[in-house]
Amino acid sequence: MSVQVAVNGYGTIGKRVADAVTLQPDMELIGVGKTRPNHEAELAVENGYPLYAAIEDRVDLFEDAGIDLAGTVEEMVEAADVVVDACPSGIGAENKSLYEAYDTPALYQGGEDADLVDTSFNARGNFEDAAGADHVRVVSCNTTGLSRLLAPLQETYGVEKARITLVRRGGDPAQSGRGPINDILPNPIGLPSHHGPDVNTIFPGIDIDTLGLKVPATLMHTHSVNVTLEATPDADEVRELLDGQTRTFLIPEGSGIDGAGAIKEFAMDRNRPRADVWENCIWGESVSMEGSDLYLFQAIHQESDVVPENVDAIRATLGTADATESIERTNETMGIGF
Ligand code: NAD
Repeated sequence: MSVQVAVNGYGTIGKRVADAVTLQPDMELIGVGKTRPNHEAELAVENGYPLYAAIEDRVDLFEDAGIDLAGTVEEMVEAADVVVDACPSGIGAENKSLYEAYDTPALYQGGEDADLVDTSFNARGNFEDAAGADHVRVVSCNTTGLSRLLAPLQETYGVEKARITLVRRGGDPAQSGRGPINDILPNPIGLPSHHGPDVNTIFPGIDIDTLGLKVPATLMHTHSVNVTLEATPDADEVRELLDGQTRTFLIPEGSGIDGAGAIKEFAMDRNRPRADVWENCIWGESVSMEGSDLYLFQAIHQESDVVPENVDAIRATLGTADATESIERTNETMGIGF
């Protein structure tokens, strides 16, 4: 029996998660919840995804726009084995009582507070913690990228202290109202940025300080990483370790990939849907050791790295596969790994 999955909130993250769910042999997408009859609502219909009105008063708007609805979001939640909430930050918290009313386990996104849920989730970091939980939060794009990097370092060498500067895109490409347009903002100005504490929701014991900036870019985030290890491997060993992970892409030296623009071009040339880059992109050449200090740069595609994590979180929460099986199945079906 396939797991019946509903996706509530069909925007940047929700539409990608919905597509990824349809690729899974053990899952069925039973519908998506939408507030407005916009171009994304039309896309859901074009894809054959049953569309449910998230706000009852707006049912007429869909009818006026000629968009057929399958029902209301309550009906969708009731019919689902699990709901992936991909609504804007804070709306997930408002929806929690709806999921509880129908006793449907729910996955939320990184914009929600950690204390909303039973556990935060990263497939490589803490897959098992979600087993049997009713409310699970798939951590943000940046925290996902950091968790994938820190997990193998911690397991293999031990992490004494991580210090990360996150150069964050101002907004996603379609977010015309976000910024800055022409500035470089320390954000937040005080330490720590929320990312360090957020990493601690996955790895409670890791000592990590994070600083954030926001810049006029939309394509990807870039992390400048320094991790003091409890061992002194050479840079080649670390490179090999990171290359051996399934959701990290070690950008080869000499590839001509010098930034986020070239990474996206690389993804487009390889026919990635929406030019998505699900993997952490680590510049192999940047991986350096100074004593026990590791340095590297990585780029994170904010719109897509959490998508396979949501798929794995469904299996982790319902206990339908273990971490290795789930990660392998998700990677294979989505085509993860350049
Ligand atoms: P988005 O605005 O692109 O999409 C959210 C969608 O939810 C929109 O289509 C909106 O109309 C819809 N919506 C609003 N209220 C709703 C309701 N009550 N019921 C159903 N649908 C509703 O937002 P997003 O970028 O996809 O972000 C979603 C979540 O994912 C947030 O928690 C965000 O922090 C997190 N996240 C975003 C990114 C990113 O870079 N975009 C990365 C990782 C995590």
